[in-house]
Amino acid sequence: FVEIDGLIKRYGTLSIFEGFDLNMGSTDRLVLIGPSGCGKSTLLRCMMGLEDIAGGTIRLGDDDYIDGAPNGKMKLNRQVQKEVGMVFQHYTLFPHLSVLGNLCLAPVRSRGIKKSEARDKALGLLERFGLADRANFYPSQLSGGQKQRVAIARALMLDPKLMLFDEVTSALDPELVVEVENTMMELAEAGMPMMIVTHDMHFARNIATQVVFQERGKVIEAAPPKDLFGNPQQDRTRDFLRNVL
Ligand code: ATP
Ligand code: MG
Repeated sequence: FVEIDGLIKRYGTLSIFEGFDLNMGSTDRLVLIGPSGCGKSTLLRCMMGLEDIAGGTIRLGDDDYIDGAPNGKMKLNRQVQKEVGMVFQHYTLFPHLSVLGNLCLAPVRSRGIKKSEARDKALGLLERFGLADRANFYPSQLSGGQKQRVAIARALMLDPKLMLFDEVTSALDPELVVEVENTMMELAEAGMPMMIVTHDMHFARNIATQVVFQERGKVIEAAPPKDLFGNPQQDRTRDFLRNVL
């Protein structure tokens, strides 16, 4: 479903990936873990088509998606790009638009979906996430957890085939983390493939079908959570887990 082959990503002279490979099945929920600075966010940004990659390919479904090439000559299939949704650590809602406005903007403006249709869909999603009574609130009137759930709903408005989550609960007060994680869990149960970066190992264990430990630009170990957490095969995985568990 997702195939990353020989990915090369550099920031100037700083090399992040020099031939990174990763596969993901269409029923997988991949949780990426690894030390700070190892490239987890960079990988998700590459998946989103937000980063220029110097080599390698990323495939999504049967379609060629991104072909890396040096000197800014990467090829990006924008048709496929539309099928990936992403939510970041810091809320990226438009502050001047209501919740409903945030959800409807992209579908109406860039997909040409009718206003009334977008509105119905938005209200359905808000209902599903227990946010129906917040439809006309502005972002500043929402809790952090509500903002993140709205951000998830907004991404879903575009019917993504794959969702990416980069530390979406890291900036939240502990009591708000659970509501966002429950929303993600509900999406998972509905069959949405996901790539998730999180520091919450308990949540990782619950939601992941595969946990991927990466370090220095390589996958060190990938396994179902019970194996990776319960019986890691690599010394480096063990060292990392000792520090975070
Ligand atoms: P964390 O767990 O702290 O979020 P991460 O695994 O997500 O870390 P990345 O944000 O992907 O790490 O960063 C990987 C490396 O790339 C880091 O060394 C970082 O400093 C560097 N980097 C990230 N973005 C840029 C950029 N725009 N320009 C230059 N270097 C960057
Ligand atoms: Mg990061």
